[in-house]
Amino acid sequence: MKQTTVLISGAGVAGPALAYWLARSGFRPTVVERSAGQRSSGNPVDVRGDAMDVVTRMGALPRLRAAATRVSAMDFVNASGRRVGRIPVGRTDGSELEVPRADLASVLHDAASGDAEFVFGDSIADLRQDPDGVDVTFDRGAPRRFDLVVGTDGLHSAVRRMLFGPESGYVRHLGMYVATVQLGYQADDPTAVLMYNLPGRSVSVHPVNGNAMAAFIFRSPAIAGLDHRDADACKQVVLDAYQGGGWELPRLLASVSDTDDLYFDSVSRVRLPAWSRGRVALLGDAASCMSLFGNGSSLAISGAATLARALAATPGDHVAGFRAYEAEHRVRVRPTQHGRLIAGALLVPATRAGIAARDLAVRVLGRSPAPAA
Ligand SMILES: Cc1cc2nc3c(=O)[nH]c(=O)nc-3n(C[C@H](O)[C@H](O)[C@H](O)COP(=O)(O)OP(=O)(O)OC[C@H]3O[C@@H](n4cnc5c(N)ncnc54)[C@H](O)[C@@H]3O)c2cc1C
Repeated sequence: MKQTTVLISGAGVAGPALAYWLARSGFRPTVVERSAGQRSSGNPVDVRGDAMDVVTRMGALPRLRAAATRVSAMDFVNASGRRVGRIPVGRTDGSELEVPRADLASVLHDAASGDAEFVFGDSIADLRQDPDGVDVTFDRGAPRRFDLVVGTDGLHSAVRRMLFGPESGYVRHLGMYVATVQLGYQADDPTAVLMYNLPGRSVSVHPVNGNAMAAFIFRSPAIAGLDHRDADACKQVVLDAYQGGGWELPRLLASVSDTDDLYFDSVSRVRLPAWSRGRVALLGDAASCMSLFGNGSSLAISGAATLARALAATPGDHVAGFRAYEAEHRVRVRPTQHGRLIAGALLVPATRAGIAARDLAVRVLGRSPAPAA
């Protein structure tokens, strides 16, 4: 019997995981990734819950454990660097991991690459579907035809734009921006994230294995005309937002000025009425992003396994497969779309009074005896 061909757009977290599980189920996946290759650093993200089971079944757990950070606490510091409170973060019992995003993508790619085709440095230019398949043109490669296409190309998904139109219809700015930069040195304490706040702004130093990373999260309405790919404009937004702050800000802002690899984006929510149309579906941030506060990497992994299983269970009926995937995975996604208000209040209090109240709450909680089991 002819194998069903599936084109996957994006080799981040969701794309390689989907390629792995589709290949295991007898499909023939091809992954096309816009970047020229995979990088080996990046924002630390969590692998937890159902996703831990999925990566275990992929045989990826030993490498992910080796790449994981050792972070177990977040320390809040004041302008002179004095620690004013501490909260535990993550679990240290091995039931979840924090892994630099690019290491996670790389491990998932390596798990899938024996059975899936990967094309780096290219992108889908256009899609035309008919009742029997999807004709795809690429920016660089020759046109090809596939049975199915899945967009795993992230928050600013091009596949989603081709299916559902411009972002303005379903991507909502949540009143914050985030920027990250690698610092090129090792943090003093590999187990603690340090966080300093100004009203409506936080800056943290995260001890990502040997190459600490600074993350700037700040409240701001959507900045009209700002393109998150315009590095100079984005740098200036960060420099202006944090000007005059204390702690290590002068040094951290110098890293922003000097870097040629600033990550910058709006903290956004993606909400779509449907995750597929005909032979084309969406997965990961492309379908249901809640950037920063939404457990997105774990959802990308568990969603990939769910989608592959749903398609395998409905041979020759992709519509039923896509419907079953969406019904099952929306149940996981829905609760995460509400957690941002608590996380935002804790990590980025809007006012000086809010920062003081947060620090007090953290100190009181830190002194409380552990609840009885
Ligand atoms: C600063 C920061 C911190 C985060 N912290 C956490 C965390 O602690 N825990 C957590 O669970 N999640 C976290 N996230 C979210 C997490 O990174 C995402 O939810 C997750 O990476 C989603 O995976 P994905 O595969 O859907 O998309 P991505 O990982 O974004 O991958 C998309 C891929 O598609 C590629 N691509 C884009 N456009 C095209 C195109 N046109 N053609 C081909 N390829 C394309 C991109 O290059 C990329 O490789 C964080 C995100 C950020 C920005």
